[in-house]
Amino acid sequence: MTDQIKPQPGILGIALYQGGAAHVAGLSDAVKLSSNENPFGPSDKAREAFSRAVHKLHRYPNTDHRALREAIGEVHGLDPDRIICGVGSDEIIHFLCQAYAGPKDEVLFTEHGFLMYRISAMAAGATPVAVPERERTTDVDALLAGATKRTRLVFLANPNNPTGTMIGLPELERLAKGLPKQAILVLDGAYAEYVDGYDGGADLATRLPNVVMTRTFSKIYGLGGLRIGWGYGPREIIDVLNRIRGPFNLSTAQLDAAEAAVRDQDHVARCRAENARMRVWLAEALAERGVPSDTSMANFILARFADEAEAAACDDYLKSHGLIVRRVAGYGLPHCLRITVGDEASCRRVAHAIGQFKAQR
Ligand SMILES: *Cc1c(COP(=O)(O)O)cnc(C)c1O
Repeated sequence: MTDQIKPQPGILGIALYQGGAAHVAGLSDAVKLSSNENPFGPSDKAREAFSRAVHKLHRYPNTDHRALREAIGEVHGLDPDRIICGVGSDEIIHFLCQAYAGPKDEVLFTEHGFLMYRISAMAAGATPVAVPERERTTDVDALLAGATKRTRLVFLANPNNPTGTMIGLPELERLAKGLPKQAILVLDGAYAEYVDGYDGGADLATRLPNVVMTRTFSKIYGLGGLRIGWGYGPREIIDVLNRIRGPFNLSTAQLDAAEAAVRDQDHVARCRAENARMRVWLAEALAERGVPSDTSMANFILARFADEAEAAACDDYLKSHGLIVRRVAGYGLPHCLRITVGDEASCRRVAHAIGQFKAQR
C-alpha cells in the first residue's frame, strides 16, 4: 500500500474496544456476567414485535422514528421533537463527538469513565482528557477544574460504569452551570432505570441549554443484541445531530421492538426490583468473603481485590469454573473485577466460587 494513503489524525491511536468475553474454551454452560446484560432478557412484548417485523423485511424502515420517539416521550414525559434515536447510545455519543468536537478541541471525562468517550473523541480528531475521581466517585470540582476554553464535550455516566457509583442531581446541576459556555454536558443514563426515582438527568436536559441525556435499550430493557439507544436535549442540539444521522440508521425490527419494550414498564419495574435484591445479596456475600465493593447503583458490582495479581488469579479461577466476569485494567482498575448482577442462581454460583478462591489462598 502506498504511504500516501493515511487515516485522519488520531484514528491509529485508538485502542480497539474489547467486549466482555462470552465463552470459556471447553465449557458449554458458562455464565456470562461480563457485559451488564439483563439476565431476564427483554419484555415478551418486545420479542413479539421483533417477530412480527419479519413480515416487513422488504420495506425500508421509517426515517423519522416518530412512533418510537412518541412512545419514549409518553413514558418519560418528554417532548418527542427533542429525542433522537441511534444504533445504541454509542451512536449518539459518536454523533455528539463528530458534530461538536474536532482537532484542538478537548473532550472531558472522569478517570474511570466509559471507554467509548475516548474512542469517539479520538475518531473525531479531538483530544480526550481524563480527570481524577475521588474514591472511585465522580468529583465535580475536578471536572470543573479540568474544563478549559477548548472543552467542547463533558461525558459523565451516572451511575458510572465500571465503578457503579453515582452523584446526586444538585451536583450534576452545579457541574452543568459551572462549565464554560461552549461546553455540552452529556449525562449518560445507561443505568438510570436501575435507580429508583432517578430521571437520568431528563429534567436538567429539559431546563438547561447545555445538557444532553443519553439512554439505552441494551441494559435494563435486555435488548443489547439489537442495538438501540436514544438522546434527549435542547432542540438545537438534537437538530444538529439529526443532520449527521444516517436516514435509515435503525431497522424496522429495532424500532418496533424498542417501542414495545418502552411501553412495558411493568417488565422494567420487575427487573429493577430483582436487580436491587440480588445486588445487595451479592455485595454482602462478597464482603463476607473478604472482597469489598462500593455501594453500586447499577446492575453490576466492582469487586476489589488486594492487588492486580489476586484479581487476575480470581478471574482465572472463575473462568475455570464457567463464570465469566470482566477485567477492568483498561479502565485503570487492575485490582478489580466487574461482576454483572445475574439471576439468583448465577449470583450464588459466583459468590460461592469467590469464597472458595479466597479460602484456598
Ligand atoms: C452499556 C453502556 C452504554 C450502552 O451502550 P449501547 O451502545 O446503548 O449498547 C452506554 N454507556 C455506558 C456507560 C454503558 O455502560
